[in-house]
Amino acid sequence: MEPLYQSKMQCICCEAVYTTSRVRPSFKRATKTDTDFCGYYKADVNPDYYVVRVCPNCGYASTENGMERLNDHQKKQYLDTIGSRWQKQDYGGRRSGQDALACYKLALLSAQTIGEKDRVVAGILHHIAWLYRYESNQNEEKRFLRFALQAYIRVYEAEGVELNNAKLMYLMGELNRRIGELNEAVRWFSRIVNDKKIMDAAMIRASREQWQFIREEMEAGRSGSSGSANLGERDDPTISTSA
Ligand SMILES: [Zn+2]
Repeated sequence: MEPLYQSKMQCICCEAVYTTSRVRPSFKRATKTDTDFCGYYKADVNPDYYVVRVCPNCGYASTENGMERLNDHQKKQYLDTIGSRWQKQDYGGRRSGQDALACYKLALLSAQTIGEKDRVVAGILHHIAWLYRYESNQNEEKRFLRFALQAYIRVYEAEGVELNNAKLMYLMGELNRRIGELNEAVRWFSRIVNDKKIMDAAMIRASREQWQFIREEMEAGRSGSSGSANLGERDDPTISTSA
């Protein structure tokens, strides 16, 4: 069976009807998952490549989690800043890793232009980091992990404190760990492990494991045998995420 199938979409910005490729559910099983939920797939079709739908007519790009409709102001915002400069291009067929990256960056631009929820923006930024990870581009991966972390923190500050969202807290710990902010990472992991109100057993276990992993890494680092360099590297926080 062909892993891809075609699905019809209507653009919520310009209302053009177009087709986009989707991956059949039986091809969506990950053979391996990283500790920040980045998936790896046996088939040569990565379902993550097809999450973003891109309108070939105006370039508006979104995921299923995005807004369902745009008001006139948001449409104008998008069309004035990006849509008017869009060179017609169709991402409806099979996508390479580079195509997928282009689609996610369009989704990021679209989301930023219309003022999409931080939770959606964070997910897009995190996915972009994964696409760079697949290509072993560590600098760009870390740059986007840092942007994703900043967006997750905004989500947490807006809603997470009341929700006691263990998965969100875990992700903030894990992304801090991955960009080398080990003290911040430990702060989040220890909160999840020690907060009696948190019941999410999987996230408690994962936090305990990653906390332990950091301890081992730090001990290895002190004995001089660690290969983990660049822990102090920092990005200019004013860099635009829309690059
Ligand atoms: Zn459109």
